[in-house]
Amino acid sequence: MIPALMPTYNRADLAFERGEGAWLWTADGRRFLDFGSGISTSSLGHGHPHLTAAIAEQARKVMHVSNLYRVPQAETLAQRLVAATFADSVFFCNSGAEANEGMVKMMRRAMHETGRPERYRVLCFEGAFHGRTLAMLAATGKEKYLHGFGPQVDGFDHVPFNNLNAVRDAIGPQTAGILVEPVQGEGGIRTAHLQFLRDLRSTCDEFGLLLGLDEVQCGMGRTGKLFAHQWAGIEPDVISAAKGIAGGFPMGAILAKEHVAKYLTAGSHGTTFGGNPLACAAANAVLDVMLAPGFLDEVTRKGQVLWDALSAVVREEPEVFEEVRGAGLIQGLKCVVPAGEVQAAFMAEGLLSVSAGENVVRLVPPLVLTDADIAAGVAMIRRGAARCRPSLAKVAAK
Ligand SMILES: *Cc1c(COP(=O)(O)O)cnc(C)c1O
Repeated sequence: MIPALMPTYNRADLAFERGEGAWLWTADGRRFLDFGSGISTSSLGHGHPHLTAAIAEQARKVMHVSNLYRVPQAETLAQRLVAATFADSVFFCNSGAEANEGMVKMMRRAMHETGRPERYRVLCFEGAFHGRTLAMLAATGKEKYLHGFGPQVDGFDHVPFNNLNAVRDAIGPQTAGILVEPVQGEGGIRTAHLQFLRDLRSTCDEFGLLLGLDEVQCGMGRTGKLFAHQWAGIEPDVISAAKGIAGGFPMGAILAKEHVAKYLTAGSHGTTFGGNPLACAAANAVLDVMLAPGFLDEVTRKGQVLWDALSAVVREEPEVFEEVRGAGLIQGLKCVVPAGEVQAAFMAEGLLSVSAGENVVRLVPPLVLTDADIAAGVAMIRRGAARCRPSLAKVAAK
């Protein structure tokens, strides 16, 4: 019989009761180090005092009023995001897929309103992940996710990642813009070359297209900048954010330049829950922490510490790992043996991780983890890797 909770996930048999910082405890008292952050989302870790206090305080006052009224918490949050980024205006919603949908609607609408209604197609990349709604499945373009869900939503084309010639060849009279993740998360922690991002910007300028970035996973401090594209020194036209934006409270956002944002006028787009006082209180608390002097530099420093340690483990275990990839605190171990086995070995050592494409184990710890947490995690990774040595299995089989 089907479980009451619809079985759309192959869940690990672990149920966490509470957490503190980068650590989680099961009800039976087992402790795990969380290098998964609930898929790159619990950016401030678990039980962060400032975040939990902000949520509790706002919940007591008022949680939800709808966007029929002013929401001061949303106005403040939008002003802060505008001050900290390229954007002139922000729309709040509830998830990454919803933010991406809104971003694509914005791109199409901007083309329509500037006399180019035939330009509705968006150029996406192989290995992308943009979410599970019907249009974002088409933007993702992966057969495994599309299978059995009927005709694909029209308007998305795909080219190889980090390949400018392919991009330029694929631009046609119907192209409205380009949608790219500065770091592909689900696709296997594949980073866009900074020069590639700059070239996408100049290509969009050359052809009069819009550059949209999906920063749902790599944004909100993950790479050591508030948004990953800042490393390339470019200004996109529009980006999406979600996952870490409210530290685990569900929220998404579209950040846009005025020349794109202005075409989503009253009544043209909406959301019931999006940007409600509770979600915005959570996101404001996250920003309090992330924008405090030195926080993002610490992410960069800790990312380097983790990177150096993982690089050493990769050298020690060439039968298990091929390479480290990523930036800041979004890193991946490309495995030689099946990544699922490596993940299971890590879990047996007490370390939580997330799988990603291309046989990669994704390591996306809370941004607040300590140096001691990194050392503990690397020790678990080292012991877990040793369990996975194929030569060990051969010895055991004899
Ligand atoms: C997770 C993710 C999404 C989808 O976000 P949801 O909140 O699950 O809808 C979209 N894009 C990227 C890059 C993601 O990592």
